[in-house]
Amino acid sequence: MRVLILGGTTEASELARALAADRRFRVTLSLAGRTRSPAPQPVPVRIGGFGGVDGLAAYLRDQSVDALIDATHPFAARITRNAAQAARATGIPTLAIHRPAWVQQPGDRWRPVPDMDRAAAALGPAPRRVLLTIGQQELAPFLAAPHHHYLIRSIDTPATIPPGARVITARGPFDEVDERHLLETNAIECLVTKNAGGRATRAKLDAARMLGVEVVIVSRPAWPDGLDHLSDAAAAQRWLETQAALRGE
Ligand code: NAP
Repeated sequence: MRVLILGGTTEASELARALAADRRFRVTLSLAGRTRSPAPQPVPVRIGGFGGVDGLAAYLRDQSVDALIDATHPFAARITRNAAQAARATGIPTLAIHRPAWVQQPGDRWRPVPDMDRAAAALGPAPRRVLLTIGQQELAPFLAAPHHHYLIRSIDTPATIPPGARVITARGPFDEVDERHLLETNAIECLVTKNAGGRATRAKLDAARMLGVEVVIVSRPAWPDGLDHLSDAAAAQRWLETQAALRGE
């Protein structure tokens, strides 16, 4: 069975690892190409956009893909919408891996906001010491709020940062002791993050709770109609095994 995994996440890499040695599957992992040196993968990787829904549908047909797994990030809304539409257009069995969102716990000081513009506005008029763990593509609203002191953590160095901001490049997973140290040594008053969910990057929320640090947290984008999802790579692997069995492989 030819499987295309849309990746860029821990789950996509986990699934690729699980399927790599299974002779029933011929897997390709697709990346958008956002990070300069992506982690090595045990399956062939293709990099770059497909050219919208039509491009993705054409790729699925040209490569005779038998099953599509959307294992992209919960905030990568466009590619997930494209996957849902390309699945409908081609009839190819398609499943998404959609990890559960983080849920507020007693002691958390969360301020949920719907988007990054509202996140920047929520920091308010008085200068604050802010940790941004939002990736490198959505920093523009913070350029428009240059009165805060920003510490930015991202995988690669962003092209443009607010004046005076400092950048730490790092790739998760992160543990709670280190996250607490980061918040304390930089006297962080507010953390800005997306509600990405998952284990790899949740320690910052535990550290913020312990230190009483406020968290401005961007809520998830809407999920497209008609796209089935399961919550982790192991469940997606079982789904693929069922698809393979249905095909008699
Ligand atoms: P997006 O806004 O949903 O996608 C923008 C465009 O990038 C898509 O229309 C598609 O181009 C291309 N694309 C996205 N994912 C792709 C993939 N896996 N393979 C090939 N093309 C892809 O996505 P995004 O928010 O820019 O995220 C880009 C990638 O980074 C995703 O793969 C995602 O899993 C990963 N990522 C995102 C975040 C985040 O917070 N957004 C965090 C961690 C990792 P075409 O229309 O030309 O096909």
